[in-house]
Amino acid sequence: MDTYILAIESSCDETSMAVVKNGKEVVALTIATQMDTHALYGGVVPEIASRMHTEAITLVLEDVLKKANMKMEDMNAIAVAYAPGLTGSLIVGIEAAKTLALIYNKPLIAVNHLIGHIYANNIEDEMEYPMLALIVSGGHTELLVMEDDYTFRKLGETLDDAIGECYDKVARVLDLKYPGGPNVEKLALEGRHTYTLPKPVMDDTYNFSYSGLKSAIINLVHNESQRGNEIRRADLAKSFQEVAIDELVRKVEKALKETKIKRLVVAGGVSANKYLKEEMQKLCDKYEAKLLIPRLLYCTDNAAMIGAAAYPLYLKKEFSDFRLNASSSGDIC
Ligand code: AMP
Ligand code: MG
Repeated sequence: MDTYILAIESSCDETSMAVVKNGKEVVALTIATQMDTHALYGGVVPEIASRMHTEAITLVLEDVLKKANMKMEDMNAIAVAYAPGLTGSLIVGIEAAKTLALIYNKPLIAVNHLIGHIYANNIEDEMEYPMLALIVSGGHTELLVMEDDYTFRKLGETLDDAIGECYDKVARVLDLKYPGGPNVEKLALEGRHTYTLPKPVMDDTYNFSYSGLKSAIINLVHNESQRGNEIRRADLAKSFQEVAIDELVRKVEKALKETKIKRLVVAGGVSANKYLKEEMQKLCDKYEAKLLIPRLLYCTDNAAMIGAAAYPLYLKKEFSDFRLNASSSGDIC
């Protein structure tokens, strides 16, 4: 029998719901983004985000059910992202999920948003194990080994800033609009790698560190503008992007070499980056490994990935009770 999960995602500035069949088929997906509002402030304002989720959530529910041509009664379970993210934003999705689960008497499934990003790869491809998973998002930079469904072993993570955060800060000093990542990428296309920046090489572990690179760029821009010198913005964007992503490539190469694992999935918002995709593809070709990166729609925040990640939990009957609460931090392991 087919399983239909209504999935909810509201961890940051997107209110999204999806109906996902058997953890793979996206029957319907609705994403209401608040991006234009937060762009006015140069970044996400948490209070505004929570209020806008509250305003959008019932409309998003109506829309997704209409698109799916289904009713709440047709669902087998309600899944919701409960962590990590902005607490006030997560709560809106969680309360909606609990309410629906209570009214329609459906099991409630709590999904970690980062695990959702990984399982986005299961929507249009098939994840096979063992595999390496690289999470690159606004708040996380982690390299994991997955031996099986929901089996995670952390190889390394960032000791300070996440790569996405670094993109966003660099965008800000380069006077680029929020969201920073795609705009830095666009500007980098017009530039050359001419700036010498500190490599975020920590040591021989699998850990990352991006705060030194971030500070170096902020200082460089301030110093040059104080001296009245012009910044070659496109060159700086390109130099930053190559240094930041080459470090990811270096660590993934070490993992491919040492673990001999032949599969890599890349997950999280930064996986939308074309340079990253190209470099990871080259690396996987070199090691005869298979690379999975979701298509753009499923790279950025969306509820379909929450539905995909909820399915193995549904099969194992790992349900939540109504004490489920939001958590801003969400360690996978
Ligand atoms: P997430 O935290 O997974 O929702 O992803 C959001 C992060 O991804 C933000 O820090 C964005 O700046 C970053 N991002 C999105 N698109 C790109 C891109 N094309 N290149 C680099 N970073 C990106
Ligand atoms: Mg995300």
